[in-house]
Amino acid sequence: MKKHVLILGAGFGGLELATRLSESYEDAVRVTLLDRNDSFFFGFSKLEVMLGRQSSEDVRLYYRDIAKDGVEFRQETVTGIDPATRRVITDTRSYDPDFLVVALGADYDMGATPGLFEGGFEYYTLTGAERMRQVLDAFDGGKVLLSVLGQPFKCPPAPFEGAFLLHEHFTQQGIRESVQMTMTFPMQRPVPVTAAVSQMFRDGLADRGIEERPQQVVTSIDPAKNEARLASGETLPYDLFIGIPVHRAPDPLPASGLAVNGWVPVDQSNLRTHYSGVYAIGDVCTGPRTVPKAGIFSEAAARVVADDIAATISGGQPPAPFGASGVCYAEFGDGRVSKVEVNFLSGEAPAAQLYAATLAHAAEKDAFAATRRARWFGR
Ligand SMILES: Cc1cc2nc3c(=O)[nH]c(=O)nc-3n(C[C@H](O)[C@H](O)[C@H](O)COP(=O)(O)OP(=O)(O)OC[C@H]3O[C@@H](n4cnc5c(N)ncnc54)[C@H](O)[C@@H]3O)c2cc1C
Repeated sequence: MKKHVLILGAGFGGLELATRLSESYEDAVRVTLLDRNDSFFFGFSKLEVMLGRQSSEDVRLYYRDIAKDGVEFRQETVTGIDPATRRVITDTRSYDPDFLVVALGADYDMGATPGLFEGGFEYYTLTGAERMRQVLDAFDGGKVLLSVLGQPFKCPPAPFEGAFLLHEHFTQQGIRESVQMTMTFPMQRPVPVTAAVSQMFRDGLADRGIEERPQQVVTSIDPAKNEARLASGETLPYDLFIGIPVHRAPDPLPASGLAVNGWVPVDQSNLRTHYSGVYAIGDVCTGPRTVPKAGIFSEAAARVVADDIAATISGGQPPAPFGASGVCYAEFGDGRVSKVEVNFLSGEAPAAQLYAATLAHAAEKDAFAATRRARWFGR
């Protein structure tokens, strides 16, 4: 009898896990893959939508196109999880799988920053990226304040990529001279994986005349006064406020007991939770060491979990420990993309090999997306 694997969330992690289980262990498992949405889109596609280079429809990959042996996709919203019994309740039914993998990603807490919903903008959701495109169409100059509103947040380079691409956009519009750009963020320095990586982003900001204010957190904005209030009590004026929202674990995780201090704790070597047969991968999980929230790590974790599930079923050797390694691409504008090969868990400290922004790396990034599209969706 095949064992039943239930995967909650069909994002980077869930899609790779379903694919790996189907291609390598289809004789041992049957897979149900659940997501509340009908389609997937890459996080970086939101930058394209924000700039009007692609529409929301262009970037959607529909789950109905998944055709993998032993995998069934169902569009359902998870409403309850009992990790002790592995029972999962959705808006239409319940499941009692042999293995449960939580890959629900991270949601946003717009209410955590008063005024953001009413008077601010963001490009971390597809809807937000569409709104940004409209506001950029009408924007003809003034103070742009781009603020990271809390930690942890998805994709450490993405706020800075946003700033670089907005600089390029304003330049192309011929209005850069009349735009003052400022970034605030809670970290000591941008993308702090290593000093060299951080410096590349700091240089990128300086070269473009974007003011950086590290270790400064905007706690609220006042849309009536166009003023952002910092934790220090200081206020900053703005004409356009763009926030990277505070992140939180999606419902129903906080109520399920799986999330502790906001996120789901795992053994980082094999992504197992405290509960038997229950794993968590990707943005939703946390551990003793920092692994940033990024698709490349969700995907790498999925491969370890597939192999760990197979080893558990067969009684075979467990896989090598999760190393949290991958290649991170970041847009610098003018079609150029930097590349950083990172490894967070294999050594005593995170390691990163840095490659400057080039057109060749932009082509590599396109190839990265194309291979995932083909592998997960057959397109
Ligand atoms: C602007 C931007 C740029 C980015 N660029 C990059 C990049 O270049 N490289 C990179 O590696 N990462 C990048 N990321 C980060 C990347 O998108 C995420 O880290 C990645 O998607 C996380 O994968 P995941 O599988 O953990 O979660 P997700 O991909 O977020 O998937 C979680 C899934 O769970 C579903 N879900 C949530 N709650 C429920 C529920 N209750 N019921 C049913 N389904 C539910 C969601 O609909 C979603 O499909 C970027 C992110 C942003 C915002």
